[in-house]
Amino acid sequence: MTGYRRKRSRKTGRVWSVLYSLMTGSFLFLVCLWGSGHVDLLLSGDEELHEVSKDVTAGDAVIEETLWEVHCLDVGQASATLIISKECVMLADTGNKDDANFVLNYLAEQGVTGLDYLLLTHPHEDHIGAAAKILREIPVDRVLMPDIDIDMCETVCYAELLSAIEEKEPLTDYPKAGDTYPLGDMSFTIVCPDPEWQPIKENINESSLGVHISDGEFSILLYGDGKQYCEAYMTQQEIATDILIVGHHGSSYSSSATFLETVHPKYAVISCGKDNDYGFPHRVVLDRLASVGAEVFRTDELGTIIFLCDGKNITF
Ligand SMILES: [Zn+2]
Repeated sequence: MTGYRRKRSRKTGRVWSVLYSLMTGSFLFLVCLWGSGHVDLLLSGDEELHEVSKDVTAGDAVIEETLWEVHCLDVGQASATLIISKECVMLADTGNKDDANFVLNYLAEQGVTGLDYLLLTHPHEDHIGAAAKILREIPVDRVLMPDIDIDMCETVCYAELLSAIEEKEPLTDYPKAGDTYPLGDMSFTIVCPDPEWQPIKENINESSLGVHISDGEFSILLYGDGKQYCEAYMTQQEIATDILIVGHHGSSYSSSATFLETVHPKYAVISCGKDNDYGFPHRVVLDRLASVGAEVFRTDELGTIIFLCDGKNITF
């Protein structure tokens, strides 16, 4: 592992955040003064204004020493999760193509100059949309993704991702359930899909890679848009987790009662867009999460959500 996170104290990070907000605010103010007839001036290079003005909900709790952090980025109706342990960095999914600058700016704000791992759960745009640009802009040591032929998912963004991989030549793995990797003071294990699973064009969601990241005491589980099949396989393994990135943005096709009873999350994060067209998160999923006692965090309500762990407690 290279270790792409420059060390910065939380205090410095917060001061930086305040300065960043002030700078962004001043810029907005100046743009407003300029007048509505000059909207094209909102763009500086290819950096779109809306991408640097999203809210960030940082944890206020006092924590002794952060051993690892999880940032559930507010990428609207999409998913992108940043996990930092020691100086090692994993980005699990990237949001849509239009989120690329927001994600890259966010990484820079966190002192992240590259990725030890870019994990792409499955090749749908709301998970890999920004991946090609990220690969071209910052060093990425290793890409982890399911082995899905372009014929199975003939989209422009998947083709762009495959070209970016060919061009930048990061190590690229198509891991199987049971494979493990180090991540700073943590390690992670691929937990789905079943190694026997063959991708189905009409059901690419079920090819989502699931990853269980643990420091031996606390853990995080995410599995893209996996549904019943992925969940049944994880249930079989009796995986439990503290933080669950809820499957498929809170769709009722995921988060079965049996699965949630097994993983029994303390905190459940739903990454979804405000007033999204799909009605995510579905009421039944919120009810199932409530019945297992999970505390629910939604990016459509809270913006970016950050969890910090000092090895004894998780705070947010
Ligand atoms: Zn999705």
